[in-house]
Amino acid sequence: RSVDDPILEIERVVKRFGGITAVDDASFGIERGSITGLIGPNGAGKSTTFNCITGVYEPDEGSVVFDGTDITGRTPNRVATAGLVRTFQIAREFPEMTVLENMMLAPKNQLGESLWRSVAPRTRGAVIEEEKRLRERAWEVLEFFEIDHLAGEYAGTLSGGQRKLLELARALLTEPELLLLDEPMAGVNPSLEKKLLEHIHELQEQGYTFLLVEHDMDVIMNHTEHVIVMHQGSVLAEGAPEAVKSNEEVIEAYLGG
Ligand code: ADP
Ligand code: MG
Repeated sequence: RSVDDPILEIERVVKRFGGITAVDDASFGIERGSITGLIGPNGAGKSTTFNCITGVYEPDEGSVVFDGTDITGRTPNRVATAGLVRTFQIAREFPEMTVLENMMLAPKNQLGESLWRSVAPRTRGAVIEEEKRLRERAWEVLEFFEIDHLAGEYAGTLSGGQRKLLELARALLTEPELLLLDEPMAGVNPSLEKKLLEHIHELQEQGYTFLLVEHDMDVIMNHTEHVIVMHQGSVLAEGAPEAVKSNEEVIEAYLGG
């Protein structure tokens, strides 16, 4: 497939773990401004692909190009700095800190201590300004996700769905262009899921791009405009959701496990 305006292109990516080839010559492009779904049966290599894109793993072969820049092998902190952040299948907030404290720490976490120090403001006045700006932005994002009333609660007391919202809110605070979401709806109740999806569409309208791994086929069918199907580490098919859904090879892959 040709992508008109790719924000991300992975080319012939391979990642092996001992004898297992988790990602096997995978190539695809992500259209800027789209919501793209990444699906495939368990063990297809979706999470490993995410990890190769975001620098958690260095691919054994192939390249990852973000916004025209080759970012293959960069550390997760540097990838986040470039404008590409991910959320995890399991949320990674600090349970013993409040929601607002978690928000305030997000950019520092994503950038990492050393990069943070290199861009951190130097003078006392500048530090106070930066804190103020960050705090305002944190409140804005919490309001956007309608969890501002939870700002003072310990993150550990939130429900599974609220933690997913917090995770997404934290990701946004690093001012990314592309967000990779690994099973954002897992463990989220239906009303919160609806809200989460609405927020994702609103953010798309604001110009963000999303790549999401999601098991719920209804979510994929109704909320993405393009779907990439992985199977045994490779891209088996891609296209419009309806076309992918009725693709014989795709059906076979799901049935065969
Ligand atoms: P998916 O997210 O599509 O379910 P994964 O990327 O998690 O698939 O896994 C792809 C394959 O790679 C699986 O066979 C899995 O067991 C293997 N795998 C993933 N991570 C590791 C790892 N850190 N060490 C060894 N094998 C792994
Ligand atoms: Mg996975």
